[in-house]
Amino acid sequence: MDLERYRRQVVIPEIGEEGQHKLAASSVLVVGAGGLGGPLLYALAGAGVGRLVVVDGDTVSLSNLNRQFLFEQDDLGRPKAEVAARRLSAFNPEITVEGIPLQLEEQNAAELLAGCQLAVAAVDNLPARLALNAACAGRNIPLINGGVEGWYGSVQAVEFGKTPCLACCYAGTDPEVGGQALGAVTGTVASLMASVAIQMLLGHNPIPGELLLYDGKRMALEKVPVERSPGCPVCGKG
Ligand SMILES: [Zn+2]
Repeated sequence: MDLERYRRQVVIPEIGEEGQHKLAASSVLVVGAGGLGGPLLYALAGAGVGRLVVVDGDTVSLSNLNRQFLFEQDDLGRPKAEVAARRLSAFNPEITVEGIPLQLEEQNAAELLAGCQLAVAAVDNLPARLALNAACAGRNIPLINGGVEGWYGSVQAVEFGKTPCLACCYAGTDPEVGGQALGAVTGTVASLMASVAIQMLLGHNPIPGELLLYDGKRMALEKVPVERSPGCPVCGKG
C-alpha cells in the first residue's frame, strides 16, 4: 500500500496508519450501484477499503444519469455492476473490486457476503433490504441501510443483537414508492453512509440505535431513537 495516496486521511487521529491498514484489510458488500451506491463506492474506494463487492442486476439507463455518477452516456445499456467495477478499479488500482451483475435475493445473499466485515444496502426496495438484513443477521455482519426520496434521506447502522435490525423497523410497512431522486441529495446521503461505514470498519458505530434523517429542503440533520422489536423474527430472542 502506498501511504502517500492516503496521507491526508492518515493524519486524522481516529484513522492513523493502523486504521489505514485496517481499511486495507476490510471487505465490504455494497448492494446497489445507483444514486446512493455510486458516491458511496467512490468514497470507500478512495479511502482504500481493500475489497469491494458490488452487486447490482440493473443496466444503465438515461434516467439514471442525473445522479448515478459512476456512469457515462456511453455506458447506456451496460450492466451497472461491471461498469462500476471497471471505473472504481481505474480510480484506485490498489484495491480489489468485484462486480456481480445479479439482484440480491435471500438465496444468494449468504454467498455474496462471504469474507465481508460489513454490508451496505444502497437499494430502492424493501424486499432487497430485508433479504440482506436476514443474511447479515445469520452471519452477524453489521449492516448500513440508506434510503432517499426526493429531498429526504435516512441512514441506519445495524449491529445484530445490539441495535434494532431492519425487520424490527420495517417489517409490514408499505413497499417503497420511489421515483423522486436528485443527485445533490442522493450524494449527500451516500456520503453520510460512507462516513458511518468507515467508522464502523474502524470499530465505532456513530449512530447506534438511531435513525439519521436528512432533510435537504430545510438543510437539517436529525437523529431519532429506534427500538428493537422483542418479537422480531430476524433478531428477536424468541
Ligand atoms: Zn430485528
